[in-house]
Amino acid sequence: MSEDKPHQNLAIIGHVDHGKSTLVGRLLYETGSVPEHVIEQHKEEAEEKGKGGFEFAYVMDNLAEERERGVTIDIAHQEFDTDEYFFTIVDCPGHRDFVKNMITGASQADNAVLVVAADDGVQPQTQEHVFLARTLGIGEMIVAINKMDLVDYEESRYNEAVEEVKDLLNQVRFDTENAKFIPVSAFEGDNIASESENTDWYDGEILLEALNALPEPEPPTDAPLRLPIQDVYTISGIGTVPVGRVETGMLNTGDNVSFQPSDVGGEVKTIEMHHEEVPQAGPGDNVGFNVRGIGQDDIRRGDVCGPADDPPSVAETFQARIVVMQHPSVITAGYTPVFHAHTSQVACTIESIDQKIDPATGEAEEENPDFIQNGDAAVVTIRPQKPLSIESANEIPELGSFAIRDMGQTIAAGQVMSVNERE
Ligand code: GDP
Repeated sequence: MSEDKPHQNLAIIGHVDHGKSTLVGRLLYETGSVPEHVIEQHKEEAEEKGKGGFEFAYVMDNLAEERERGVTIDIAHQEFDTDEYFFTIVDCPGHRDFVKNMITGASQADNAVLVVAADDGVQPQTQEHVFLARTLGIGEMIVAINKMDLVDYEESRYNEAVEEVKDLLNQVRFDTENAKFIPVSAFEGDNIASESENTDWYDGEILLEALNALPEPEPPTDAPLRLPIQDVYTISGIGTVPVGRVETGMLNTGDNVSFQPSDVGGEVKTIEMHHEEVPQAGPGDNVGFNVRGIGQDDIRRGDVCGPADDPPSVAETFQARIVVMQHPSVITAGYTPVFHAHTSQVACTIESIDQKIDPATGEAEEENPDFIQNGDAAVVTIRPQKPLSIESANEIPELGSFAIRDMGQTIAAGQVMSVNERE
């Protein structure tokens, strides 16, 4: 696989059982990304059983089996390349913490493939994922109307499914100009890597063409540096080494940096990436680095590293737009769940519910409501119970989203509108 091609993080979203894993398996298979020995093994098995040409089904069985055994050839983090791009599949729905990871940026996707089964249409998770994709600023969406084989490749059923999805996109104000629709069968391989004879009424792009035509991601190199710290190590001969992924901006040796909210800083001595010393790192790079004068106990996971002259914001309070996804009862002012933002987890109090808004349009519906519940969206004021570094989504979107967790699940998601900084 060529590493020279531009890189794309691709999210595969959609309702459970609509065919996400099968589609990823098919993409890996068609782009030659399934290890040769796996294919060979299954070719032989298929031929022995007189089922030549069914290698794909065997590959899928194998992926499923390996998953069950926990050996994982898992669909998340799989890689494949097309003529134009090198793709990494980021975390997939169904995975534990998918929603949280998607919101907190742990698995930031550039573009998405939405899988909708032709025989089932738009379902609750389709709505949830599309809503999140829009909120988190996914650039383009390829909508694969899957399982066309189950509806006899009927154009009318395809058109119905497309209309359902378009209605959904309109509801959440995702510009349908940025969506492409393709009738596919992940299982049979229709319109994935070659035009299908079963859909002669369709003359648009096939899936691989649409993937090639995605806009090239533009990494946020011009934004100020923001590097949330994941862990802090002590390495003999080097000293304290914070590690994390650069979200925005550039990190250079010699830079003067500041860690917030720990409020310490110094000069960057060395940067290491993939076990090699480098002079510079940018968005998406996972780095370990060393800063003059910083000890193991001075900084911690959840700190954000930024330029000393433009340090990460630390919130006394912040105003945010939140959407309640799953809460067993109602949310009122005073509620104090755990907020997950980038690498930090901090208990925060919802100090006031300022306005209930229409989840799709953002228009005000009610001032100062007494409570909000599932499906509601609201503008709220939040007070972290411990110092929290977070940014307004307008200024630095990569550091402006959070998930609210309670009782072991993601109950709400939000975006920061403004930060009232701590003195
Ligand atoms: P996921 O939960 O979205 O990842 O869905 P899976 O990929 O696990 O697929 C769920 C079920 O639908 C499996 O039994 C697949 O074999 C089946 N499936 C997936 N794609 C197709 C398709 O294009 N046609 C048919 N007939 N079945 C499919």
